[in-house]
Amino acid sequence: MLKKYNLIVVGGGFAGTSAAISAGRAGLSVLLIERSNCLGGAAVNALVTPFMRDFTKKDGKPFILNAGLFAEIKSRLRDMDAIDDRPCARFNEEFLKIILNRMVLEANVTLLYHSYLLDVRKTGGAVKSIIVANKSGQQEFSAEYFIDATGDADMAALCGCPFHLGREKDSLCQPMTLCFRVTGVDMEKFRKARNINTLYREMQKQGKIKNPREDVLIFDHYVDGILHFNSTRIIKLNPTDAFDLTKAEIEAREQVFELFNFIKENIDGFQNCSLIMTAPAIGVRESRMIDGEYLLTGEDLISCKRFEDSIAAGNYDIDIHNPEGSGTSHHYFPDGQYYTIPYRSLVPKNVDNLLVAGRCISVNHEAQASIRIMPIVCCIGEAAGTAVGIAAKEGSVINQVNVKRVQEQLKNQNSIF
Ligand SMILES: Cc1cc2nc3c(=O)[nH]c(=O)nc-3n(C[C@H](O)[C@H](O)[C@H](O)COP(=O)(O)OP(=O)(O)OC[C@H]3O[C@@H](n4cnc5c(N)ncnc54)[C@H](O)[C@@H]3O)c2cc1C
Repeated sequence: MLKKYNLIVVGGGFAGTSAAISAGRAGLSVLLIERSNCLGGAAVNALVTPFMRDFTKKDGKPFILNAGLFAEIKSRLRDMDAIDDRPCARFNEEFLKIILNRMVLEANVTLLYHSYLLDVRKTGGAVKSIIVANKSGQQEFSAEYFIDATGDADMAALCGCPFHLGREKDSLCQPMTLCFRVTGVDMEKFRKARNINTLYREMQKQGKIKNPREDVLIFDHYVDGILHFNSTRIIKLNPTDAFDLTKAEIEAREQVFELFNFIKENIDGFQNCSLIMTAPAIGVRESRMIDGEYLLTGEDLISCKRFEDSIAAGNYDIDIHNPEGSGTSHHYFPDGQYYTIPYRSLVPKNVDNLLVAGRCISVNHEAQASIRIMPIVCCIGEAAGTAVGIAAKEGSVINQVNVKRVQEQLKNQNSIF
């Protein structure tokens, strides 16, 4: 006899975790499946930090755009002294992992780690069950509703839902990046050191640096004395092709050593530094995005469109790392301006009981470049879990859920305003 849940969420990044928590709090039986050993997705698997800004400014004062569960996670990090108060907040990911475990379990969600989505079983327009591969072999689980929060829309693709990859003209995605960390830096000397980027560009011109990224992007880590490098750039590879992903990991590791040797040999303050870690996996900014009920575009964002069925908001810049090489383009939103994300962008075509949450919702390349940040995908996930909570009560299919009720509930949860 198959174990049946109200909801199965695949993928435990910010989107999937918040989806599972909100559905669990709504009283649903939820199974959350994750291929790694912890929750947090890119924040922990790819060591992505900091949280980009979750607010804009109105009349000179902060106006919070992404609250709800995201604010709760930040508050729990604060209680553990594991986050700071910068606008782009730095956090300690080890504390994040334990907080997310606790929040999920408190919401009575069943967690299944080390399990990879392998296949789906559909009857007509509905998914009946999914199959995962893990140490127990192949396991099948059934549910009334499903949320694909894999970041890569793996489940939607297996269901045969239409999707696109990367930008419209050539399907190229934003570059992948393997983040790494360095310790033993003399911070005082480093802050006073001559401009790293002038030398970096000179050496790039001379062919001594192969990395196509235009500069060296360094963040202070939450833990004193550690510098975080978000600076490798892997282009023109498909993050949903396993051989391309392997090539990306190999190429990125060479770039890590190139960058590490560059700073150690040339930059004051780094003489005694050590490379302490690379991320467990290369970070994927962009891959599959579903072609759902509504395709949210860069133009929608720039015109700050307010949708009737909006379930989240954002104003992070349209931040496009060049998929072909050097350069990063930005469209910044002025203070006080923000766009909204419609519920229909979470609804894939051709399946009655599946929602998609996170960076792989129905967006074009330009819109994805903004909605992909952690505060926003957390709100999208919360909306997806809340919507399934309401669909389950109404007994409705996913594209006929009463969105007004979802919005009311999200307002109660302080997730939209
Ligand atoms: C290099 C880089 C730098 C970035 N910088 C920032 C930044 O500074 N600030 C910021 O806010 N955002 C940043 N972002 C964006 C942000 O981190 C991600 O877009 C966001 O975390 C995506 O969340 P998600 O939940 O949609 O997907 P993910 O975090 O990717 O989560 C998906 C989860 O699903 C799991 N999974 C995937 N496939 C399967 C499967 N088949 N079966 C089971 N489990 C599966 C994965 O293991 C993962 O845990 C950056 C991203 C990258 C790559």
